[in-house]
Amino acid sequence: MSDQTEWNYSPAPESAKQAHISGRYEHFINGKWTAPKEGDYFSTTNPANGKKIAEVASGSQADVNAAVKAARAAYEGPWGKLSARDRGKYIYRIARLIQERAREFAIIETLDGGKPIRESRDVDIPLAANHFFYYAGWADKLEYAFPNRKIASLGVAGQVIPWNFPLLMAAWKIAPALATGNTVVLKPAETTPLTSLKLAELIAESGLPEGVVNIVTGAGETGAAIVNHADVNKVAFTGSTSVGKLIQKSVAGSNKKVTLELGGKAANIILDDAAIDQAVEGIVNGIYFNQGHVCCAGSRLFVQESVFDEVMWKLKRRMDTLIVGDPLDKNTDVGAINSKEQLRTIEKYIKTGREEGSEMYQTSCKLPASGNWCAPTVFTNVAQSSTIAQEEIFGPVLAVQTFRTVPEVIEKANNTPYGLSAGVWSDKGARLFQISSNLDAGVVWGNTYNQFDPTSPFGGYKESGFGREGGLHGLAAYLDM
Ligand code: NAD
Repeated sequence: MSDQTEWNYSPAPESAKQAHISGRYEHFINGKWTAPKEGDYFSTTNPANGKKIAEVASGSQADVNAAVKAARAAYEGPWGKLSARDRGKYIYRIARLIQERAREFAIIETLDGGKPIRESRDVDIPLAANHFFYYAGWADKLEYAFPNRKIASLGVAGQVIPWNFPLLMAAWKIAPALATGNTVVLKPAETTPLTSLKLAELIAESGLPEGVVNIVTGAGETGAAIVNHADVNKVAFTGSTSVGKLIQKSVAGSNKKVTLELGGKAANIILDDAAIDQAVEGIVNGIYFNQGHVCCAGSRLFVQESVFDEVMWKLKRRMDTLIVGDPLDKNTDVGAINSKEQLRTIEKYIKTGREEGSEMYQTSCKLPASGNWCAPTVFTNVAQSSTIAQEEIFGPVLAVQTFRTVPEVIEKANNTPYGLSAGVWSDKGARLFQISSNLDAGVVWGNTYNQFDPTSPFGGYKESGFGREGGLHGLAAYLDM
């Protein structure tokens, strides 16, 4: 086993000074910073050191009412009357402003969420800008997107997002809603509100009419107040399956249009003819980068028996080289776990994995003294029924199983309540197609992993939710047709 201390990169930290963060944030309602009606605030902290970054308004029913009222007025007023072409111009402007401030957004995302700056800088922020660019282009072409259909916007969209891709999830939700002529009330996750609030600053700068985008911060009750508001026409939720089920129950019987993007337990399948080095890189990308805080994380690995020893040997060697630590350092591969609560959940699953008889390997990297950290972890000798093979862990923990035949791996991969994503690695296109067309997953990557593009729809089957975001499907979710 190699030791990280043998050979180290010199630190290359991004400067937190580049980010302009206020000490306190209010809600962004009707184009203005608005103090919470009940006067409550909560703190958002840096998961890498536990230090408070800012205070953020806690949204009550009254705050949500004000935001929905502003969104309704904008929908029936200036926004509803604007030409589709002009709508598009505003969305382009927001995209360009994100690009101009990309460095600042990346730093704030990393400070607030704990993800490595490389990930925020190279994935989250460029993809968020690209979503606005992509949907800006559709704003005045909806009749070509859906030919021979009578289409209409829905009204006010209530949107609730999680903490793993904060700005990107906001972009996935806001950009198609605006392109289709709706107005928005969005709530970011309580542990990562800062990039949505920075986006609000930039939306104000863009001159977007007041009330078109409203951002209310708070925890689950604030989200529930948005989802259950009688004047909300569309609910777009990304988060856990348990909350998704609650939302589905609460909107049942209303005429709200709903999309739910929920949890996952993706299978990453390595066949005996795969390019093993490339596949190992894909496994690492799929579960360890971004601390496994990815709904589509390749958290179950299926390796064909004849290449199992080689894959595991190479995977462990590669895991040993992963740099865990300061998320602002450009060399860092694995950052901080988003919250203490999430760290406890991950640790509980690691304990369960050992108790149920699976064999654990963890890298011996030195973890920082303060903050929330988990070393990259892999389990072998995992049974199909093991808790760690069945439940979403949402951390850098991989459960490995073997298989002999293709029908066997298809059955094992599909044997989960989830159906969000999967990966298949093989030298033969025919095998890739055979397996991918038999997997119950919304997205299947072939010889790659975690690739995203605004033009491509994303979403799940089974308990991973329904509806699609991205591409034309993402537009359809915000239209009555
Ligand atoms: P979560 O469900 O706890 O919270 C998500 C959001 O919902 C937060 O903003 C939270 O405040 C809010 N919320 C909580 N209770 C609510 C309620 N009763 N009504 C309305 N809103 C409520 O999930 P999380 O822990 O923040 O995120 C992790 C989960 O998100 C994982 O399960 C992950 O797989 C999933 N996720 C899915 C996708 C996807 O595209 N399918 C993408 C990212 C994350």
